[in-house]
Amino acid sequence: MAAVQRIVIENCSIATVDAHDTEYANGYVVVVGNRIESLGAGSAPEGLENVVRRIDASGHLVTPGLVNTHHHFYQWITRGLATDHNLFNWLVALYPTWARIDEPMVRAAAQGSLAMLARGGVTTALDHHYVFPKGSGDLSGAIIGAAREMGVRFTLARGSMDRSEKDGGLPPDFAVETLEGALAATEATVREHHDASFDAMTQVAVAPCSPFSVSTELMREGAELGRRLGVRLHTHGSETVEEEQFCKELFGMGPTDYFESTGWLGEDVWMAHCVHMNDSDIAAFARTKTGVAHCPSSNARLAAGIARVPDMLAAGVPVGLGVDGTASNESGELHTELRNALLINRLGAHREAALNARQALRLGTYGGAQVLGRAREIGSLEPGKLADLVLWNLDTLAHASIADPVTALVFGAAAPVTASFVNGRQIVENNRLLHVDEDTIARSTREEARRLARIAAQG
Ligand SMILES: [Zn+2]
Repeated sequence: MAAVQRIVIENCSIATVDAHDTEYANGYVVVVGNRIESLGAGSAPEGLENVVRRIDASGHLVTPGLVNTHHHFYQWITRGLATDHNLFNWLVALYPTWARIDEPMVRAAAQGSLAMLARGGVTTALDHHYVFPKGSGDLSGAIIGAAREMGVRFTLARGSMDRSEKDGGLPPDFAVETLEGALAATEATVREHHDASFDAMTQVAVAPCSPFSVSTELMREGAELGRRLGVRLHTHGSETVEEEQFCKELFGMGPTDYFESTGWLGEDVWMAHCVHMNDSDIAAFARTKTGVAHCPSSNARLAAGIARVPDMLAAGVPVGLGVDGTASNESGELHTELRNALLINRLGAHREAALNARQALRLGTYGGAQVLGRAREIGSLEPGKLADLVLWNLDTLAHASIADPVTALVFGAAAPVTASFVNGRQIVENNRLLHVDEDTIARSTREEARRLARIAAQG
């Protein structure tokens, strides 16, 4: 058996994001295999064996890798469209185009989305994919393959829609699956791809799209399916005032009560957005430990409103960050969401006390791990946890004059990523991906975006 190999990272600042927010102004991290072996102040212990690499990380901040908890990769090839719409008008404008996607398009879009996330410090990505046109190929396999190729830890939230226009929903009839078809395909995806082990690189969640595109039966049976298979549940919730009205008209209750009535509150559930939540909604999430994927840029882009993140955190609701699909957040970067979460929440009721830099970093790391159900394995730098970590270069023009590294990372411009490790394996060096070619991906995303626009224009 080959001896386990060690990587030593030294001379860096470290924000561990552990339960005590432990930080080291000058410290070291030792990685052994795919785990963190030790970390602390000063120099690494002497006499370590099998050290294959020693990184002098002077001028860098080391943090846990960022965890993205909500996204729609396929939207990478429909960015920059319907730019001045609210959620419902934006959906109605884009559904007819989205319904034409096929496997090569979805593969290219997943590569583009993942590349942008990974080179910006994301080590665990998620794709909530819910558009499965008939005969479009193995979309789930294409997405999972793209994540594997890049070396990113990944959760596929296998989405679905079965409430089309003829049933009072928003998507056109040809864009949805049947109830039975969606459940069977979701179960098959879990059985084929979900890995429940501690160091899993691929997991699957059950993820019907939203109350306005999914039948009550699919919500209910989806929750039962997820629990029977022992996987997590994900959906969109309480995103806009229009959604609230839709739920009241169709179900006679607001979104949170509707979720409760269909089995969608629980510690195995996390929901994107949760913008329009009253005190009793937040209390219900806290009581049931239902998680939230906060997507500040997308909420601003679609004029959805400001989620009450400070109130959620105070109540004990697990909160992570999400880019959301890139048709509503064209940047596709998660590190900018740290900054936007902080700034946008300060425009809300709590003003300057809403969030601080360390809370924002926690949302993007440990909070994300919590809502994905992986807080034991990732989300903070602690001995025994998986080695998912990022070296942010703060020693350049953008940050060099800011003394506090966490303040520099969150309040400052997007920091360059000198190195990013997932499961102990390096995937980014000097802002470039190591295992895929960015220029090839850029070309294929442009080609597939043009092909989709052509096909959609034909109707
Ligand atoms: Zn979304």
